[in-house]
Amino acid sequence: MSVLSCDRLNCDNIMCDYTLFHYYICEECLEELRMKVLKIQNDLTVTEMKSFVEDFIESHKPNVRDNGTYNLELLDSLVEDR
Ligand SMILES: [Zn+2]
Repeated sequence: MSVLSCDRLNCDNIMCDYTLFHYYICEECLEELRMKVLKIQNDLTVTEMKSFVEDFIESHKPNVRDNGTYNLELLDSLVEDR
């Protein structure tokens, strides 16, 4: 059985379903990365995206678990259909 641990600094997750620029990344970190990418104001080249991803992989995972997803779920729970 192979264990694919997340390459994100300080991330202990060992069930990584994804690879990105040869990094293993867990779903939790990928979601956080996706939220950060959403905030980028300009179009990136693949090279620029690669360095953005590398910076992210080397950044510490926040201690508070997955704020982005938590807040998104909170927001979604507050949105009502007309
Ligand atoms: Zn991770």
